[in-house]
Amino acid sequence: MRVVPRLVSPFAALLATMLALPAGAQTIYPINRAEILAGSHFDLKVEFPGLVDAAALKLEINGKDVAAVLGRSAELIAKEDGKDASSLILRSASIRKPGSYTVTASDGNSSKSVTWNVYATSAKPAAKNVILFIGDGFSIGHRTAARILSRGIEDGKFVGKLAMDSMPYMALLTTQGTDSIITDSANAAHAYTTGHKSCVNALGVYCSRAASTLDHPKVETITEIAKRQGLAVGAVTNSEIEDATPASMAAHTRRRSDFNDIVKMFYDSKIDVLMGGGSPNFLPKSTPGSKRTDDVDYIEQFKSAGYSFATTKSEMNQEADTAKTTKLLGLYNTSNIDGALDLKFLKKGSVSKFPDQPDVVEEMRAAIKILSRNKKGFVLMVESARIDKYAHSMDAERSIYDVIMLDNAVKAAQDWAKANGNNTMILVTADHSHPVSVIGTVNDNVVADEMRNKVGTYQEAGFPDYQRNDEGYPVSVDVPRRLRFVFGATPDYYDTFKPFLDGEFVPAIKNADGTMVANEKYKDIPGAVLRVGNLPNKGPSAANQGVHSGDDVILTAMGPGAERVHGQMENSDLFRIMAEALSLAPQGKSAGVKK
Ligand SMILES: [Zn+2]
Repeated sequence: MRVVPRLVSPFAALLATMLALPAGAQTIYPINRAEILAGSHFDLKVEFPGLVDAAALKLEINGKDVAAVLGRSAELIAKEDGKDASSLILRSASIRKPGSYTVTASDGNSSKSVTWNVYATSAKPAAKNVILFIGDGFSIGHRTAARILSRGIEDGKFVGKLAMDSMPYMALLTTQGTDSIITDSANAAHAYTTGHKSCVNALGVYCSRAASTLDHPKVETITEIAKRQGLAVGAVTNSEIEDATPASMAAHTRRRSDFNDIVKMFYDSKIDVLMGGGSPNFLPKSTPGSKRTDDVDYIEQFKSAGYSFATTKSEMNQEADTAKTTKLLGLYNTSNIDGALDLKFLKKGSVSKFPDQPDVVEEMRAAIKILSRNKKGFVLMVESARIDKYAHSMDAERSIYDVIMLDNAVKAAQDWAKANGNNTMILVTADHSHPVSVIGTVNDNVVADEMRNKVGTYQEAGFPDYQRNDEGYPVSVDVPRRLRFVFGATPDYYDTFKPFLDGEFVPAIKNADGTMVANEKYKDIPGAVLRVGNLPNKGPSAANQGVHSGDDVILTAMGPGAERVHGQMENSDLFRIMAEALSLAPQGKSAGVKK
């Protein structure tokens, strides 16, 4: 979702100014307690609060000059971005020898230290492949709801498990970043793909004071690291491919909405398989519908670099079935690919315009076919993106159907792993949660004047009426007794107590004076009631939809290396689990920088 600047109270602003005043407030990136994979590349940056005397500067690691440890000195930027503040920068540093590294920066008056932990990985990989599933915004309430809709309950027990329920290892993951208790999909996915914590809207960078969004201190992504080891890498999603979660596989920008730059970064990363929506950012500005501001035709660029190109499910399957295809770019929609409820049942959204879009399961199957042609192994990120988008729009059924789609993809991956050597680690998680819960059912057969009195709680909730098809989807979403799935943080909206059969819910819109108000479109639906929201409705934080929550998310895992998944962990620990499983640190002990 769009992220808006926070309002700052005059007191907080004054306090911030006071805190910034004393000398010695230099900031060092990577930050304190950073966990760094041995051999991975990172930009070391020190920001001083004011101008510094070059002769007085000292930058040391474990008491030695930085050049002795990293192979070269940091460059002094006397007046960064033309302002009265100096910085030191050393791009693409790396450390091969594991251990504790204390970095101390001094300007002659004051000094600041941070300590990094550099870790190696075992010489022999535990897993050949890693498949990382990210259900965007996929919360515990979502998982329970999907199990109820998809499996049903008899005698108090679920009739079957979700595919992800059968996986043996589980942990609770935090989702917080460096700036806030609430994260977004960029920052959260970045923690998985780099192992570093960052801030809202950032991908592959620490959030420094640099003016340009593309000039912040970079850390490497798993794509860069795994490709250097000879592995194939892929990212598939049903969002626009430039969107935050897939972008985290390759992007380095402070601003996730730098879509045109992100397309270039995908290209430069040489990622092998890339599938989703969002074609307009690949097309030169001269092409009608293009969103680029330059004349580069990235579809042609990818093709020239040896990629097959697909715009439909049929083309995708044809390319995947061609034995010589080892690289594929698939762009199946100008915007997001439609979710499962529209794609498979209601045919709403953009299905009439794009009638041959793959779902996430089909994308993943094609991606695995292509990536597994690399004999060294692969890393694949699979995102069910619209769980989050529909949770924002408070469209419960669409969101839950896309959890079932995610689980079907997990099942397909499990079957593939079992049939192909049992050497694939499978991880299933969310990037962050939403404040959502299953609280009971709504029953149209209850006689009552108001819809709220048709809501059953406790024993009155009973069990909903859904009938499932072979893929585990309810064949009809609008059954008489259906799930009551509620949202805890909302704008003003009309609660209809019903699924939205005509298209995705749009809960609130901006009125003439800029206030977010309930969308009157739903006012006259029989039984609809106005709910006064609890989110800001005015100012820069005004919300026209639901928001993320800071609750932990579940990580479920199986396969070689998955036994490291247990207890309560930081989201950035997931990167290390993948790095350890695939032995992504180079072997050998010499420290140094990228040549
Ligand atoms: Zn979101």
